[in-house]
Amino acid sequence: MQLTNLKVATEQVSFLQAVRQGLGQQQGLFFPTHWPKLDIDALLAMPLVERSTKILAALIGDELPEAELLAMVDRAFTFPAPLVRVTDNVSALELFHGPTLAFKDFGGRFMAQALAKAQPEPTTIVTATSGDTGAAVAHAFYRQSGVQVVILFPKGKISILQEKLFTTLGENITTLAVDGDFDQCQALVKQVFDNQALVAEFNITSANSINISRLFAQICYYFEAVAQVPAAQRDQVVISVPSGNFGNLSAGLIAKAMGLPIKRMIAATNSNDTVPRYWQGQQWQPKATVATLSNAMDVSAPNNWPRVEALLAQGVISRGAIEAIAVDEDDTQLGVRQLWQLGYLSEPHAAVAYKALKRSLAPDEFGIFFGTAHPAKFKEQVENILGSPIALPPALAACAAESGLSIDIAADFAALEQVIRTLKST
Ligand SMILES: *Cc1c(COP(=O)(O)O)cnc(C)c1O
Repeated sequence: MQLTNLKVATEQVSFLQAVRQGLGQQQGLFFPTHWPKLDIDALLAMPLVERSTKILAALIGDELPEAELLAMVDRAFTFPAPLVRVTDNVSALELFHGPTLAFKDFGGRFMAQALAKAQPEPTTIVTATSGDTGAAVAHAFYRQSGVQVVILFPKGKISILQEKLFTTLGENITTLAVDGDFDQCQALVKQVFDNQALVAEFNITSANSINISRLFAQICYYFEAVAQVPAAQRDQVVISVPSGNFGNLSAGLIAKAMGLPIKRMIAATNSNDTVPRYWQGQQWQPKATVATLSNAMDVSAPNNWPRVEALLAQGVISRGAIEAIAVDEDDTQLGVRQLWQLGYLSEPHAAVAYKALKRSLAPDEFGIFFGTAHPAKFKEQVENILGSPIALPPALAACAAESGLSIDIAADFAALEQVIRTLKST
C-alpha cells in the first residue's frame, strides 16, 4: 500500500519506507488514502493473532508476505486484551497485560518488528514519551543488536513507577530527563528530524505514536474488543478512548472506516482539552499543558490530530461519529471511586474514559471504555483516591527496587544533539 505525506502530497512512500522514515518532509505524517474493506464477520470469529495478521496484511499489501507478517504479529501480540464486564451495558477493554502494563505495548512491540524489517542496518531511535510509550519502546528494543534508543521524558512529570519501567534498563537504552513538559520533549524530537544531516549520519528514526506501524497495530485490538461483545449488541457499540496524542483514537476511526461496527467513538481528554473545545466550534488553540492525574494524556497539541482530519476529509468518517468530552480532575477521581464501588479497580486514564462514556451513553447502547494502563502503575494516585492500598504486580515490584539511570538535560536542542553524538563513540 502507498502512503501519502499529509503535508506534502507529492511525497508517496511504501509501508516499510514510512516505518523507516517515521515522518515525511516538513514533518508531515504518512497516511493511506484509501482503506481496504474486510469480511468483518469472518474476522470476528478468528483468534487474535490470526485475525490481526489478516487486518495488517490487508493494510500493508504485498510488501510483506503474510507468513512473515504472521511471525511478526505472533512475536508482538503475546498477551490478551480481555473485555471485562463492569455493568450490564458497560465494559472495560483491558489493554495493559503486556510487559510494561500499558496499551502502548501493542504498538511498540509491532513497531519493533516492523523496524527490524524496514531498517536492517544500525539505527538510532529518538522518541519522546509522556509516560508509557517510553517503556514500551525500551522493552521492545532492549538488547536488540544494532539499535540505540534515546528516550526523552518530562522530568518529574510522570509517575515514579512509570519512570522506573524504562530508566532502569541501561545498555542500548539511553533515557533523558528533560527540564520541561511533554510538548517541549516532543518539540526537541521534531528538531532532530528537521536536521537532515544528523538524521542521515545516525540513521535516526522515530518511534512514538506517529510511526504508522504503531497505528496499524492498534487497529487490531478494536476488532478484539468487538469480537468479545455479544453478537446481539454488536450494532450498538460505543467506544470511549482516553486520549492524549490521539493515536489510539485514530486507530479506532480507521477500524470503523474498514467496516468494524462501531456506532460512535468518544475522544475523552483530561483538562488538556484542545480537541473538545475545537470540536464544540471554537478555534484550534492549544493552551499551556497542565499537569493532571492522567499524566500520559497531558498533551495540548496532539500530534496525531492531522490523521483524524484526514479521515474526515477522505469522507470515510463523519463528524457525528466522533464525540469529544473533557473530564476534569474532580470527575476523574469520582470515576475511580465509582468504578471501585462497582467492583472494578481502575486508574485515572481509564476513569477519564469511563466518565466521558457515562455522559454520552444511551441505555440501549453497549459502552466500552479502554483501560490503557494497569492500576498499579498509578499506585500512589489510586491509593490516595481510594484511601486503601493496592498491590504491585511482580514485574513492577522488581524494577521499582532498582535505581534509574536517566541523564538530566535542559530543554535544549544542543544538549540533545550532544547526547546523540556521544552514543556513536561508545
Ligand atoms: C499514551 C497514553 C494515553 C493516550 O493515548 P494517545 O494514543 O496518545 O491518545 C492514554 N492512557 C495511557 C495510560 C497512555 O499511556
